[in-house]
Amino acid sequence: MTDQTLQFQSDVTRLLHIVTHALYSQKEIFLRELISNASDACDKLRFAAQTEADLWAGDSDLKVVLTPDKAAGTLTIADNGIGMDRDELIGNLGTIARSGTGEFAAKMTGDAAKDMALIGQFGVGFYSAFMVAEKVEVISRKAGEAQAWRWTSDGSGQFTIGEAEKPGRGTTIILHMRKGEEEFLESLRLSHIVRTYSDHIALPVVLEEGDGKSETLNSASALWARPKSDVTEEQYQGFYHHVSHAFDDPWLTLHTRAEGKLDYSLLLFVPSSRPHDLFDPARKSALRLYVRRVFITDRCDELVPPWLRFLRGVVDSADLPLNVSREMLQHNPVLARIKQAINRRVLTELDKKAARDVADYEKFWEAFGPVLKEGLYEDPEHREAILKLARFRSSQRDGWVSLDDYIAAMKDGQSAIYVISGEQLEQLKHSPQLEGFRAKGVEVLLLTDPVDDFWLSVVRDHAGKPLKSASRAGADLDGIAGSADETKSEDRPDDATLGTLIAALKQVLGDAVKDVRESKRLTDSAVCLSAADGDLDMHLERLLRQHKQ
Ligand code: ADP
Ligand code: MG
Repeated sequence: MTDQTLQFQSDVTRLLHIVTHALYSQKEIFLRELISNASDACDKLRFAAQTEADLWAGDSDLKVVLTPDKAAGTLTIADNGIGMDRDELIGNLGTIARSGTGEFAAKMTGDAAKDMALIGQFGVGFYSAFMVAEKVEVISRKAGEAQAWRWTSDGSGQFTIGEAEKPGRGTTIILHMRKGEEEFLESLRLSHIVRTYSDHIALPVVLEEGDGKSETLNSASALWARPKSDVTEEQYQGFYHHVSHAFDDPWLTLHTRAEGKLDYSLLLFVPSSRPHDLFDPARKSALRLYVRRVFITDRCDELVPPWLRFLRGVVDSADLPLNVSREMLQHNPVLARIKQAINRRVLTELDKKAARDVADYEKFWEAFGPVLKEGLYEDPEHREAILKLARFRSSQRDGWVSLDDYIAAMKDGQSAIYVISGEQLEQLKHSPQLEGFRAKGVEVLLLTDPVDDFWLSVVRDHAGKPLKSASRAGADLDGIAGSADETKSEDRPDDATLGTLIAALKQVLGDAVKDVRESKRLTDSAVCLSAADGDLDMHLERLLRQHKQ
């Protein structure tokens, strides 16, 4: 069969154009991306070989080998992982398969500076090889198959694919370096890059130089399995970057080991900025599940609830069988208990952070509060803990307020926590619904996240105080002591005049309103809309109507 030339998917062509023309300063990340792919490929092989031992084919010494060749101007990155067949080479390296790269492609602007910042933010996986190489050759042989394939491209719109010879399984990537990128053929430089970005990779990255010299560059141990005292801040950060595919630093690192009834290790991170897919409707978790250091999956929704989906990191259990299948992971009692433990640990840790450094905690809340609040209606068991962690905007003060702060500032005679929800903070602050409250100095919490209306409909109280919508007619300002004057009696028209006015309004408004009543709550505005007790909150009603429910 002769070689075939195929076109890249158009998104790939656009992406490659940017990658090859961008003067991106951190080109060295190409090595991290290729080593990370090699490591994933070895994880996949280990997993597949659990049920199909023949795949090992006598070679169970998994590793990545880097071979620089200055005379030829090439850098070779070889692994003995799962490998790819012809269709996989075409599918994986000719289209945008993974979500991160897809997001990158979707956000590309064509403006070089902006797009370069995006490379930093998302990474561009395999395609980053073209930042340093003018031609990339991939020779791959899938585990269990005899035929190998060669994929070649110069990154300009098309690639070729054809048969190749390869003695063992796995993938060998040959980078023909561009002029000016010779630094990546220097062993010192390579060794430095590997230690910086890939030290935690759970398989050896070996540097081989022509004269039979070979050296393992990384420490190659599963970081989460090491005692905390042996791990440096840099190593945690490097590991976070690896598992999260992100470039920010972790806001919180949680590393623990449980022994006894359940035996597991956790190395979890809360990012300092929102992951790009945080509000993806699928609300998937991204934690990686290992069983005794063998990678099982990073698509396991049984490990954390959707309201903790921003967590990144690793869970390693010693209580699951190694050949655990996807089906077995569902409704698994071991996972259910680990999940409970994660929920509790994370909530406790957040609580400690909130007590320790208010400003730092508020940064977390701004990024992930809207997600955490989903737990208020999805997980009644953790409702109290989440309410304690929640922060709100207020009608009476700037900054963030907790429910406990609110309760501490309640007025004499006030027995409820008043809230109002809407789309925009500024709009809520000036809502006529709040006039009466403001006149008496009664604080109202201002809720502007879409999720707020959903939990408000199920959360009835906190610390014995009912939560009440300030937009309800029954709001009980009368019983609250305040400095403001009530509407002065001489300003009030007599009952007959008022009765005529109300009757006239009712007639004009007809079915558009349920009732028209005199209000003692307004100080500046002439009228305001309010919800009757027992009816849906006004903002929720509007939201539901928008969604035609
Ligand atoms: P990602 O690693 O996030 O999926 P990449 O662009 O880095 O995205 O790689 C695309 C896909 O190509 C991978 O998902 C994998 O299926 C395949 N791939 C890349 N490198 C290798 C390799 N060394 N061995 C096997 N498959 C690979
Ligand atoms: Mg990758």
